[in-house]
Amino acid sequence: MSRDENKLLIDVKDLRVSFDTYAGEVQAVRGVSFYVNKGEALAIVGESGCGKSVTAQSTMQLIPMPPGRIKEGSVMFNGKDLTKFTDKQMESVRGSEISMIFQDPMTSLNPTMKVGKQIMEGLIKHQKMSKQDAKQKAIEMLDVVGIPNPEKRVEQYPHEFSGGMRQRAMIAIALACNPKLLIADEPTTALDVTIQAQILDLMKDLQKDFDTAIILITHDLGVVADMAQRIVVMYAGVVIESGTLDEIFYDGQHPYTWGLLKSVPRLDTQGKQKLYPIEGTPPDLFSPPKGCPFAARCEYAMPICREEMPEKTHLSKDHFVKCWLQHEMAPDVENPIKKGRE
Ligand code: SF4
Repeated sequence: MSRDENKLLIDVKDLRVSFDTYAGEVQAVRGVSFYVNKGEALAIVGESGCGKSVTAQSTMQLIPMPPGRIKEGSVMFNGKDLTKFTDKQMESVRGSEISMIFQDPMTSLNPTMKVGKQIMEGLIKHQKMSKQDAKQKAIEMLDVVGIPNPEKRVEQYPHEFSGGMRQRAMIAIALACNPKLLIADEPTTALDVTIQAQILDLMKDLQKDFDTAIILITHDLGVVADMAQRIVVMYAGVVIESGTLDEIFYDGQHPYTWGLLKSVPRLDTQGKQKLYPIEGTPPDLFSPPKGCPFAARCEYAMPICREEMPEKTHLSKDHFVKCWLQHEMAPDVENPIKKGRE
């Protein structure tokens, strides 16, 4: 889904987030921009420490401030800049208009409170429901997310649920107030593959049924293939490529995107596909390199790559990449992903 001003839900522009530590300033997010239309699913992918979770959490002011600090940029949500919101204003947005689910439900579910009560909290607070109605809605929500015997489960504590059921319960809490945007931060990483597939299917169905927009944060490109309409690839705190699902999967242009794609197992190769790790480690964000942040790990790096950060090259309405290989004077490089598919 291309940018549509009439359907625009969240518009993040040039977001810069740092953490002030004893060792100095960690520049975790360095000028990130992206948007999500109403009802759309966007994936933000990249390896650990690339800034994807900090970006998502900053949009909801969920990073600890201090040491975190939003240095610059705006997060326009329904026409209002969330970076300017007070704690109280943010409280009314969280849970009712934007919800978030995390990798490990045990860290976000309250172990001392019945699951039903945790779903009811938001309904009573944001939708001013009576206790009785909120309990009925909690039972409904547990049913919607596929938890059997919801009348009994609503009275149970998180430790009485399995890992997959806890993740479902967290989705029930997140969606109870029918938010416009759900941010899912590595929602399936801690689950085994069968449950992972079930949770992703559930999120897809709920996205359709509730018309909720989703920002899916993940390190695993395989997870997004079936779910997102557009992908933002982040590396070392910056967006290095962005495009539709097909543009990234079939015509990705950044060597880091190629690396991510080469590390995803494919089903059509009957076990003959070799998986390639991306050698090396991301740069130190205490003092990020002045040129392309991927240069130290890139097999195509040229002298200019270490000197200057490449600008955006637009390849289509939705697809852009930041890489010196797009320059007219750069050598021709065969796209290894396309080649591997031939
Ligand atoms: Fe590699 Fe240079 Fe492109 Fe960076 S700009 S990804 S170092 S070729």
